[in-house]
Amino acid sequence: MNREKIIVIDFGGQYNQLVARRVRECSVYCEIYSYKTDIEQIKAMNPKGIILTGGPNSCYEENAASCSKELFELGIPVLGLCYGAQLIMHVLGGRVCKAPVREYGKIQVTVDTSSKLFRDVSEKTICWMSHNDYIERIAPGFEIIARTSDCPVAAAQWEERKLYAIQFHPEVLHTKEGSKMLHNFVYKVCGCEGAWRMDTFVETSIRAIREKVGSGKVLCALSGGVDSSVAAVMLSKAVGDQLTCVFVDHGLLRKNEGDEVEEVFGPNGPYDLNFIRVNAQERFYEKLKGVEEPEKKRKIIGEEFIRVFEEEAKKIGAVEFLVQGTIYPDVVESGLGGESAVIKSHHNVGGLPDYVDFKEVIEPLRDLFKDEVRKAGLELGIPEKLVFRQPFPGPGLGIRIVGEVTAQKVAMVQDADAIYREEIARAGLDKEIGQYFAALTNMRSVGVMGDERTYDYAVALRAVNTVDFMTAETAEIPFAVLTKVMNRIINEVKGINRVFYDLTSKPPGTIEFE
Ligand code: GLN
Repeated sequence: MNREKIIVIDFGGQYNQLVARRVRECSVYCEIYSYKTDIEQIKAMNPKGIILTGGPNSCYEENAASCSKELFELGIPVLGLCYGAQLIMHVLGGRVCKAPVREYGKIQVTVDTSSKLFRDVSEKTICWMSHNDYIERIAPGFEIIARTSDCPVAAAQWEERKLYAIQFHPEVLHTKEGSKMLHNFVYKVCGCEGAWRMDTFVETSIRAIREKVGSGKVLCALSGGVDSSVAAVMLSKAVGDQLTCVFVDHGLLRKNEGDEVEEVFGPNGPYDLNFIRVNAQERFYEKLKGVEEPEKKRKIIGEEFIRVFEEEAKKIGAVEFLVQGTIYPDVVESGLGGESAVIKSHHNVGGLPDYVDFKEVIEPLRDLFKDEVRKAGLELGIPEKLVFRQPFPGPGLGIRIVGEVTAQKVAMVQDADAIYREEIARAGLDKEIGQYFAALTNMRSVGVMGDERTYDYAVALRAVNTVDFMTAETAEIPFAVLTKVMNRIINEVKGINRVFYDLTSKPPGTIEFE
């Protein structure tokens, strides 16, 4: 598709995805590519602007990540951020070296507000710095447009050539007016129109899917999570009952979740599609018998899931298309977009499933970030409750039960979790806390209830706040709320006689509890 776009060239910085997200928040489409991308390929993409990210290298060192001088001669506006800024200077004849004083954290920067980049930005503004090197001398043609007390070149421009270099990180929210700066670059320097909007995205995607699919049959594995739900609704709007959704209930879902998914996607729901619910609870419990090791549990659940799906697919017979809920971070993290090391091999990207007989994969959300998927979901009229659902792991409660999984333990953790969620909502905290759930520990201890000795399980409550899900802080839930949850769980859930609140942040903990 030939849409207006900005490209981000990735030099291995931590915030590469953030840069692209911020640009998209300005209503301009943006994609990430490795610095190794061929210049001809970049030209062919015809971007409205190019942003060079930060990176761990020092640009003056041998074998440091680099780019060709030609990049700056294409007439396309370029914005370098941190490493990117240093690289522009290095390649064009300035001098970069180790800074006498390294800067890290929020630093006050004085900017020249007559520069297009800093239009409407305050003259003294707080920015996020993270560098050891600095630009000692700018390249010929450039002028300095920002400084700090320790950094004489906090930003520089060559206005006629539309080249801009900033030492700090506008993409990080700690840079107070960073979004404004990126907005200025995208609109005032690159002249973008800002056509990237979710309503048009949804509309054009539906049309494109319809054209591609024709009268073919489409199969989708629906988990009830945000991504697969949005993908399924989009397909249903495009091709109606040519779509079959298979929903495998592995018995490790939250309380009533299977029924909730069926309500939305089943025959009584608002969508036109074929819905197959497979109640495979017993099969999964059987396979998980006696297994305690978390990685092993994950594997067993994943494999069994594929087996069940495969059996259903065989009943349906050959299909032309398979839908996958891949989203953009999956693509980038698989090392297909950008420069970041392969963080995880994602089941959705790259290797295609060989257990279903199909001709082609459709990934309607492949270009979207999570918040954009949610917006698309709302555009499609999917209930808010589903669209803003918390992340839930594929192996489900299987990894929120420490030790062996049994039907009885699943019921306990489901009930405790439901009470917890109910009380959090009642306290008005449900939109405030990032993610919260109950997990069942493997610990049993002695208690007394109604004058009788108990020897029951302890449940752990977890609640974290996180922006990016890479790091997380424990949420401060009022003690009165926790006490109420504790009381209700002990009273209402048989088999539990103790409640803990998990204070661990991530790192060193993980968000999940397995
Ligand atoms: N490695 C470079 C420095 O230390 C760039 C750092 C960055 O891009 N954040 O200055």
